Amino acid sequence: MSATPILALVAHDAKKDAMVEFARRHKDKLSAFDLVATGTTGGRIQDACPDLNITRLKSGPLGGDQQIGAMIADGKLQGLFFFVDPLSPMPHDVDVKALMRLAVVYDMPMALNPATADILLRSARLAGLKTTSTTPEVGNYSS
Ligand code: PGA
Repeated sequence: MSATPILALVAHDAKKDAMVEFARRHKDKLSAFDLVATGTTGGRIQDACPDLNITRLKSGPLGGDQQIGAMIADGKLQGLFFFVDPLSPMPHDVDVKALMRLAVVYDMPMALNPATADILLRSARLAGLKTTSTTPEVGNYSS
C-alpha cells in the first residue's frame, strides 16, 4: 500500500465543472495526496491541474465507482470526494448507492458537495489523524 494517503475524486456530469473548480482551488493541498478518480472526472481534473498525481480508473458507469468501493473495503482509501447530481437519472444508480453505502459502512470521510469538500480537505482527520479505514464491527458480519 502507498505510504501517501489516497483520496478518491468522482463527479457526475453536471458536477464536473464544480469538481474541476474544487481541484484548481485546492491543488496545493491535493498535491500532498495520491489521487484516484473515475475516468472522465480524472481526465478533466488532470487537464486543469497537470501537476496532480491522478490514477484514472474506469468510468463510473463502467465500473469505476465499484473500483473505488473495493479500495474502501480493502482499507486503501483515506477520503472520498463524490460530487453527486441528485437531479438526473443515472444508468449506474445502483453503483452510486453501493459506493456511498460502503463509505458509510467503513466510516470513510466523504464529501458529497463542494461546500463539504472544502471543509473536509481542511480537516485534521484527513491530514493524518485517520489514515486507514477500519473494518466495521456490526452484527455477525466479519472481514
Ligand atoms: P466518470 O464517472 O468520471 O467516468 O464520468 C463518474 C460517475 O458518473 O460515476
